[in-house]
Amino acid sequence: MANPVPPRDRTDQPWRSEGAPPPQPPKRKMPGGWGGLILTALVVYLLANIVLSFFNEGDGPTISYTEFDKQVAAGNVTKIYSKGDAIQGQLKNKQPVPDGEGDYTKFTTQRPAFADDDLWAQLAKQNVTVTAEPVVQERSFLSNLLISLAPMLLLVLLWIFIARRMSSGMGGAGGMLGRKAPPKPVELEAGAKRTTFADVAGIDEVEGELNDVVDFLKNPQAYRDMGARMPRGVLLAGPPGTGKTLLARAVAGEAGVPFFSASASEFIEMIVGVGASRVRELFAEARKVAPAIIFIDEIDTIGRARGGGSGMGGHDEREQTLNQILTEMDGFTGSEGVIVLAATNRADVLDPALTRPGRFDRIVHVNPPDRGGREAILRIHTRDIPLAKGVDLEHVARTTPGMTGAELANLANEAALLAVKRDQKAVTQSDLSDALEKVQLGAERPLVMPEEERRRTAYHESGHALLGMLQPGADPVRKITIVPRGRALGVTLSTPDADRYAYTEEYLRGRIIGALGGMAAEHVVFGVVTTGAESDLEQVTGIARGMVGRWGMSEIVGRLTAIPSDAQQAYGLSAAPATLDAVDAEMRRIVDECYESAVRQLREHRPQLDALAAALLANETLEEDAAYRAAGVIRAGKEG
Ligand code: ADP
Ligand code: MG
Ligand code: ZN
Repeated sequence: MANPVPPRDRTDQPWRSEGAPPPQPPKRKMPGGWGGLILTALVVYLLANIVLSFFNEGDGPTISYTEFDKQVAAGNVTKIYSKGDAIQGQLKNKQPVPDGEGDYTKFTTQRPAFADDDLWAQLAKQNVTVTAEPVVQERSFLSNLLISLAPMLLLVLLWIFIARRMSSGMGGAGGMLGRKAPPKPVELEAGAKRTTFADVAGIDEVEGELNDVVDFLKNPQAYRDMGARMPRGVLLAGPPGTGKTLLARAVAGEAGVPFFSASASEFIEMIVGVGASRVRELFAEARKVAPAIIFIDEIDTIGRARGGGSGMGGHDEREQTLNQILTEMDGFTGSEGVIVLAATNRADVLDPALTRPGRFDRIVHVNPPDRGGREAILRIHTRDIPLAKGVDLEHVARTTPGMTGAELANLANEAALLAVKRDQKAVTQSDLSDALEKVQLGAERPLVMPEEERRRTAYHESGHALLGMLQPGADPVRKITIVPRGRALGVTLSTPDADRYAYTEEYLRGRIIGALGGMAAEHVVFGVVTTGAESDLEQVTGIARGMVGRWGMSEIVGRLTAIPSDAQQAYGLSAAPATLDAVDAEMRRIVDECYESAVRQLREHRPQLDALAAALLANETLEEDAAYRAAGVIRAGKEG
């Protein structure tokens, strides 16, 4: 198993590193700095004070006039202040609040207009001072000011606090607010093994190309003496899960040099304006410990060709970050020994500035592994898994065409999980095939379906399967099931016998016919169409669009690229409107023809369709052989 990616030591540092020399013991710091903590405490304290004083300086409880009269009579009132009939006053000794909680000394009350008591005489008798100033002081000017300014003060403090947190580690951009904390690479845990080429399989040709880089990093002096310059950047291009990230780490591990890795999106996601300075810091850090590798993952997120239809704001940020990377790379003299690796799923959309000589001028394509490669990858990922006798990884490799390294790693892990669940000592072949089923078809979903719906699903899947069986050259049907899985109510799985690299027009039409088979069967048998065909139609549309717009399979549109492969790019930019209309019409023509063909074939083979559906209803799941038998179709090239 590959080493886990080492953790980042600060969340605001967008890169991780491994194999770098140990950092100076960092001073212990509070997460937001002590300053932040003190500020927060201060703010809370102030706030509490203001709120408290607000309530404390109140006028005390409002008491009844009767109660007031009683207190006066008892000689317990020291002074009062009166304005109109409203009276404020203060007691000598505090009294319990009548029908309330606590005690009071200050109070207010209201003298009724009809009270013709001789209050003045009473007061004089009891020596009560009648003041000309309110007993309860109005809040002072200062505290009034404080209170009115408090919300703003709070905001400012908060803002400073946030600015400090964000600016730490982003170099000068923090300006006067930021304390600049230099980034410190994380040390790999002692004893942890680094990823090497031994952890990578199935992409030997790629390893070969990267060997130069490893060589150079191991011995930069030899290259320097020869006056040879290494490529500054190597771009790994390939579908997700093919092992690009793994490969980059393996190169560093193989060469024994520090490895800095960051995802391009991490540079720009946080706060505007810091992407470029982060890049600068990262490169500075790597230069210090050169020879080293900087790995920038998902570089297409910032390296897309400008002017593409995909930029939704944040353009400047992307461009600045990208430019900074390019500038840093231009600044290499070529002998420092810092090599930048980058990975992308979309080499086709990259800005040409990136692939210019002197930048990422070496592009290495990483493809999904072939059969032998899959077996080797499975061996790597079952290294730590006890395998039962008789487990045939070669067979597994044969039944997984098109799967990537990541998917195979996942498959091995799913099988191990199953074995644990089943209380086994080792992983068996059936664990592996059940895991494969789960990975390919999705997990089973306990769902009770009404009988009518089951029947329709059975016909739907039978339609897919039967047409798949009938099309010459189509991928054989491996499994049909009407057990709901993942999002689907049923699944028909077809995989090729051997890896395929190019497709004929006939094959693609066969795929469309097969994909339309479910809908066609519902149409033929029930005369209605349900929503169950949504993903089928998406697939159909994708194939038809490729045939017409990209693979030159339509006479009318002709042999040109009418639709860019980049789905995110607006169509409108790629071709004249008339061409796009033609593409549309041709896609429709192809799909209509295929649908007609599907319906016709199902009508012709109705007894076989019924038989297959019946077998499916009875068994829920049919394996390859049982399915072909039930449909009465002889598998081309197998029976012979
Ligand atoms: P990518 O970066 O191309 O999307 P990753 O390098 O992240 O793919 O691959 C994910 C995981 O899949 C790896 O950590 C590894 O476990 C497994 N894997 C992928 N390709 C390979 C390979 N060629 N050999 C061994 N393991 C692989
Ligand atoms: Mg990756
Ligand atoms: Zn379907």
